[in-house]
Amino acid sequence: MPIYEFRCNNCGQRFSEFFRSMSAAAEGVKPPCPHCASEDTVRVVSSFAVHGPAGADPGEIAAETRAAEREASVTTKEQIDTWRKAKKK
Ligand SMILES: [Zn+2]
Repeated sequence: MPIYEFRCNNCGQRFSEFFRSMSAAAEGVKPPCPHCASEDTVRVVSSFAVHGPAGADPGEIAAETRAAEREASVTTKEQIDTWRKAKKK
């Protein structure tokens, strides 16, 4: 079952939504923001999934981001740029 990441255009928070079926996801269903209840949300391509589990809650995402920043001190510039781009989305 697919999990997609969304971003709220109202408050800027990102969240993951779990779909019961591929068809529901394919229809472009946009869930309301869990933080401010705005329905002005956009689906974004998940980027944290490459270095963390999908469906993490915001606290876990923040922890992942901090972990990535720590790793950045011992990784290549190319990887750092990838993380920077991911955070801007
Ligand atoms: Zn919001």
